[in-house]
Amino acid sequence: MLTVNAIAATSATAPLVRTTIERRDVGPHDVLIEIRYAGICHSDIHTVRGEWGDIAYPQTVGHEIVGRVTEVGAEVTRHAVGDRVGVGCMVNSCRECENCEAGQEQYCLNGNTGTYTAVDRDGTITQGGYSTHIVVDQDFVLRVPESIPYEAAAPLLCAGITTYSPLSHWRAGPGRRVAVVGMGGLGHMAVKIAAAMGAEVTVLSQTLGKREDGLAFGAKDYYATGDPATFDTLKNTFDLIINTVSAPIDMNSYLRLLRLEGTLVSVGAPPEPLPVKVFTLFNNRRSFAGSSIGGIAETQEMLDFCAEREIAPEVEVISAEAVNEAYDRVLKSDVRYRFVIDIDTLR
Ligand code: NAP
Ligand code: ZN
Ligand code: ZN
Repeated sequence: MLTVNAIAATSATAPLVRTTIERRDVGPHDVLIEIRYAGICHSDIHTVRGEWGDIAYPQTVGHEIVGRVTEVGAEVTRHAVGDRVGVGCMVNSCRECENCEAGQEQYCLNGNTGTYTAVDRDGTITQGGYSTHIVVDQDFVLRVPESIPYEAAAPLLCAGITTYSPLSHWRAGPGRRVAVVGMGGLGHMAVKIAAAMGAEVTVLSQTLGKREDGLAFGAKDYYATGDPATFDTLKNTFDLIINTVSAPIDMNSYLRLLRLEGTLVSVGAPPEPLPVKVFTLFNNRRSFAGSSIGGIAETQEMLDFCAEREIAPEVEVISAEAVNEAYDRVLKSDVRYRFVIDIDTLR
């Protein structure tokens, strides 16, 4: 066992604190990663505050992880000491069910093993990336291209893949009108990726405050959802809407913005139900869908796509001490556009 520095939540309401956690010994198929940067995803906040259900404390979260391999197990073939690697939202799956066999480990029928709050194969609860080191099975470790700035690579492991996967599945591309609702961590990556795929992108944000940024990320249009006129102007417009909002919003108002056979995909994950009127779906034969992260092969494809197209998240690098303040700012939609913890400040 390796004892390493970490940041953990001790209850749903207390601030996160510095602590130590245990990492398992490096097994034959494992790699030991010295973590350099860890992104702060809104899911980390939903989780530690118990919004998605009760969890066991203390709990370390963080599933946007980049670092270097410092040790490999005897049978590891995919990674070598010194490699620049990443770990996202899952660290294992059953590898046998039809979804795993289809390369969709995120939808493992036996439940994928989440990077945090999941029961690991040794019975312990998995602990995430706000820590100096992590031990992960080689098959769930991604290669991070050297051309992506180190600190900016971290958010790709969740925000990047969670938006790339539905954009790719629902064919964002030339001639397709795509709207992105909410321009935070996921939303700003959705704008950049959809634009790089060739789609015509519109941002739907609460205010026009981030309009210039949205246009610089590749959006063609930008509307305030706080202005009711937006919902009239944009009726029957989009082929695809990606909802990244962390709070409940009125889905019916957004569904009406879909044109014939358009799809609204929610990746935003508020704990409350999002009621949908079937008659809104009948019009234009609309679809309402959800999407969860992406498979391992698809995550690698996304990293390579971002490297090739020179797409990177906009990050604000913070020290370990600033995590609680960063959480407060994320909750106020005051993030431009992803906080990333410099893990060297935890050593
Ligand atoms: P984030 O950085 O906080 O961004 C969310 C954005 O939603 C905010 O920046 C804001 O954008 C908008 N927003 C927030 N509160 C709102 C409200 N009350 N009404 C309207 N708009 C509001 O969060 P994130 O890290 O991108 O995560 C977004 C959501 O996706 C979270 O629920 C997270 O758990 C979920 N998630 C899901 C998956 C998956 O696999 N499906 C993966 C990762 C994250 P504007 O300021 O532009 O309005
Ligand atoms: Zn996440
Ligand atoms: Zn499976």
